[in-house]
Amino acid sequence: MRYSIIADAYEKIEATTKRLEMTELLADLLKRTPKEIIDKVVYLSQGKIYPDYVGIELGVAEKLAIRAIAASSGRREGEVEELYRRVGDLGKATEALLERRSQSTLFREALTVEDVYDAFDKISRSTGPGSVDSKIRLLTKLLNNASPKEGKYIVRTALGKLRLGIADMTILDALSVAFAGTKELREEIERAYNLSSDLGYVAKRVAEEGLEGIKRFGIMLGRPIRPMLAERLSSPSEILEKLGGRGSAEYKYDGLRVQAHISGDSILLFSRRLENITGQFPDVVSHLREAVESNGAVLEGECVGVDPNTGEMLPFQMISQRRGRKYMVEEMAEEIPVIFFAFDALYAGRDLTREPYPVRRRELEGIVRETDFVKIAERKIVEDPDELEAYFEHAISLGCEGLVVKSLQDNSIYQAGARGWLWIKYKRSYKAEAIDTFDLVPVGAFMGRGKRAGTYGALLMAAYNDEEDVFETICKLGSGFTDEDLKSLPERMWPYIINHKHPRVKSQIEPDIWLVPSLVMEIAADEISLSPLHTCSKDSVRKGSGFALRFPRFTGNWRADKSPEDATTSREVAEMYRNQLKRISE
Ligand code: AMP
Repeated sequence: MRYSIIADAYEKIEATTKRLEMTELLADLLKRTPKEIIDKVVYLSQGKIYPDYVGIELGVAEKLAIRAIAASSGRREGEVEELYRRVGDLGKATEALLERRSQSTLFREALTVEDVYDAFDKISRSTGPGSVDSKIRLLTKLLNNASPKEGKYIVRTALGKLRLGIADMTILDALSVAFAGTKELREEIERAYNLSSDLGYVAKRVAEEGLEGIKRFGIMLGRPIRPMLAERLSSPSEILEKLGGRGSAEYKYDGLRVQAHISGDSILLFSRRLENITGQFPDVVSHLREAVESNGAVLEGECVGVDPNTGEMLPFQMISQRRGRKYMVEEMAEEIPVIFFAFDALYAGRDLTREPYPVRRRELEGIVRETDFVKIAERKIVEDPDELEAYFEHAISLGCEGLVVKSLQDNSIYQAGARGWLWIKYKRSYKAEAIDTFDLVPVGAFMGRGKRAGTYGALLMAAYNDEEDVFETICKLGSGFTDEDLKSLPERMWPYIINHKHPRVKSQIEPDIWLVPSLVMEIAADEISLSPLHTCSKDSVRKGSGFALRFPRFTGNWRADKSPEDATTSREVAEMYRNQLKRISE
């Protein structure tokens, strides 16, 4: 398959502002793709070469790409840099330079998808001495054979900046449309994805084996399962009512969610975003080895930092310092030791995801032998709202964020990749005057004036509507930034800038700059109000109004552990609004 087919599809996808059209374009592309390479096309369309959990990223340094572009276009590096500075995008600069390339293009070999994928694969794996030269060689060879348009996308992909914003959900829709003609296969395909977190692999199974292959899909040790998420309510009585009068109230530990795959001595740890974080937490690996007796298990738990002197639990900010580290891992493990609080078992010699919570909890208690560093989440079965409130206060006093109250009913399965009412979180407002904090996604930016000239004056922030898979605006954010934050904003946002509203963004406000929904920031606010300007849960309370935040401010917390789809949902905002009204009337 020629790479030009992909490049043409990218170009159309990049130009569309309509979500439906994006799905159709992608479905067309998948239909045209031979089965053997459909996994590669799926990874490439998201700017990747492997599923995230493999941890192999394409992130060629700009300097290195510039050398390859110069070599292939017959220009000096300085010229490439100069053009890059002017157009602000190395992909576009490449396109322009390849158009003016002097060498005859008659001798070009047409690039295939396999050529491009294999070169990227080699580039991402080459390390050590000589690797810079070999990366440049590989990239130059690709560009020598690329058309200008292909060159643009090759360079963007190589830099890890393809930025088409094709979400997992769009690919699932497109796969169903491509192989069933409609969205009818969607649910089965999504289940397979939720159990494997590997869209390329799922695409291949659908393409090769059809519906039957997808139905046979099960958990595989070593492939992370997409996490189950909780809904949120703000009163103990509502929570109990929703759960049928009784629930298992578990402490909500304030740390990092970790999924552990244990297969004999070999243990892999995955973050909530399914990155392989085994190397960052060698202490957790050895503690789990000691505490878990199993030849095959998948456990979920929250890793919480503790003060080595007092044994008290530390807030999330502390353990987040241990994330993403390549150096000083051991030293940090000593400085901030962590406890793994296990709260679920998804696999224990057999798939448990379709078992109800009480069965999974029993299995969990069966395979975990508690130690100082591995514990089972504290819980209490409650039926009475006052008892639930008291248990909540107790959890807070120990440094927890609140409770996650879980259904004990027969249907209380593990809903991989889904947010549902089988788990309900009950959290405390953080500051006395603030109702809560929100995890929001920047979808646009406004240029600054006066003191903020040269950087952004404000960001347009959005909540996630998980029913429609779109981002809905909720406030303009201009407060809470340190001078340093402010200065670095344009650089931080740069990779996500596009020249039109992203198809997955709903906004009535027109910012100066549009962004692909990608980052998550923690925002505090005083109140939720109704506003005709914002699209968050629009029309749900009053026709023509959405929700807005009053006095929003950045808490300083970039939630790198959350993907944009993990942001506060529009539904959660509506629930918080309801609760706020109740509080005012009390
Ligand atoms: P939130 O991040 O506010 O949506 O809350 C859900 C998160 O709470 C989960 O993803 C876990 O990381 C965390 N958590 C802490 N303790 C528990 C528990 N006992 N059961 C489930 N999730 C928990």
